[in-house]
Amino acid sequence: MDIDFLADTPLDAEQFSTDPRRREEHKTDWGTPDEEGTMPDVVVWPETTAEVATVLQGANQRGISVTPYAAGTSLEGHAVPVAGGISLNMTKMDEIVDVRPDDFQIDVQPGVFGSAINEAVERDGLFFPPLPSSGKISTIGGMIANDASGMQTVKYGEVHDWVLRLEAVRPDGTVIETGSRASKTSSGYNLMDLLVGSEGTLAVVTEATLELAGIPEQIWGGRVRFENRTEASAAISDIVRSGVDVAKIELIDERSAGMACRYLGAEFPPAPMAFVEFHANHDIEAEVDFCRAILEEYDITDVDIGASGPDMNELWEIREEMASALKEYDPELEMLTSGDVTVPISKYADLMAYISTIETEHDLEIPCFGHAGDGNIHYTVMVRAEDEEHRALGERVDERIVRHAIDLGGTATGEHGVGLGKQRYLPVEYNDETVDTMRQVKAAFDPNGILNPGKIFPPK
Ligand SMILES: Cc1cc2nc3c(=O)[nH]c(=O)nc-3n(C[C@H](O)[C@H](O)[C@H](O)COP(=O)(O)OP(=O)(O)OC[C@H]3O[C@@H](n4cnc5c(N)ncnc54)[C@H](O)[C@@H]3O)c2cc1C
Repeated sequence: MDIDFLADTPLDAEQFSTDPRRREEHKTDWGTPDEEGTMPDVVVWPETTAEVATVLQGANQRGISVTPYAAGTSLEGHAVPVAGGISLNMTKMDEIVDVRPDDFQIDVQPGVFGSAINEAVERDGLFFPPLPSSGKISTIGGMIANDASGMQTVKYGEVHDWVLRLEAVRPDGTVIETGSRASKTSSGYNLMDLLVGSEGTLAVVTEATLELAGIPEQIWGGRVRFENRTEASAAISDIVRSGVDVAKIELIDERSAGMACRYLGAEFPPAPMAFVEFHANHDIEAEVDFCRAILEEYDITDVDIGASGPDMNELWEIREEMASALKEYDPELEMLTSGDVTVPISKYADLMAYISTIETEHDLEIPCFGHAGDGNIHYTVMVRAEDEEHRALGERVDERIVRHAIDLGGTATGEHGVGLGKQRYLPVEYNDETVDTMRQVKAAFDPNGILNPGKIFPPK
């Protein structure tokens, strides 16, 4: 592989490395076990848009694969360089370029971490609402590439709702600008929305203009305990469908709660729960009362919501650490997948009941939690790591859950994206003509197929 061209570019010697340790660091992402990773031939750390363009152009001319890599927290193998080549680490492009509080806008480079955006605008009374639970450990470039969303999506929407403008570099090194700093535009094809969620397969994002929201004056929160998780999911579905203006509504089932408490050493009931938060500038009490009234119809064991409810920092920490808690739960048990199905909210309880039935039927542990207000469930089939038969059973059960979610009118992935792990469901969710249209879009941007190859589309 002719990666020697990098030495003839304006990149400094320390901006690329073939050191096996550096390459090793880029062979997996959070959801990919070590043994399934693939080493890139070289890691490159660009610092400017021009350097990204130079690297892409050189790689494209030589047919070398380039896989963008940011914080590596993807859960479906998105950042794994399956064809070797260059791992393009974007984390050195981490400047806040401009903050314009009067316009509720910020311009950032892609390597800026989610929490750094909020830190930069907090003094102006602003925040970036759609951060994923991994906001502290992942970059805005990765969030845009995966069209991430998070706990506040039920009120504020997903990342794509908050991106106004992108600068990006096509695989041949051409720099393009999409969207606008105006709050709306109808000008030309909406290439920006095409790039958001394209998982680094169409272009490399080098700058983004994001919209911001005002920090609400009133924030109340709390938790509700239920008798069982099907009841919890039915109540959450009812709350959302009734139009309660809730900013966060997360489901944590009894298994996940127990695992998280053990992991964090927190004293917490291992019971199915909803964690909720309300945002308003006035009359928040009325909204909370409305929610309480709906909850009275359900089998609840405890409600504690208010201005001085439980310590919300503790609750949100428990929720944020959930994925790590499951991963570390038991060395004998392995998380088979990071389930991410999402269904229409009216079908949420149906899906949860289905998971409970299948869990009992096969005597499995399937902890469930998620951004329930969006109809999202992160379920995880736990399998005995060394037991091939148990793993095969887990895989069959996992597939049944995904297919059931699609049958309910939902999707195989609400926020994590397709990467490698969800490819086989693309033709289940869409007809062949639709998948072919997506392939044609890929070919138009990247005729030589060098950018993040092997992702999204199942092998033909
Ligand atoms: C504990 C935990 C909790 C999580 N919670 C959530 C959640 O609540 N919601 C959610 O949506 N996700 C969640 N995730 C998944 C993940 O954190 C997000 O998808 C995140 O946005 C990935 O960002 P990253 O910086 O780690 O990107 P990476 O994983 O490094 O890369 C992600 C993808 O983006 C591409 N890419 C990176 N930078 C660029 C760029 N500049 N231009 C073009 N392509 C690029 C890569 O090629 C890859 O395909 C969670 C993950 C973990 C580990």
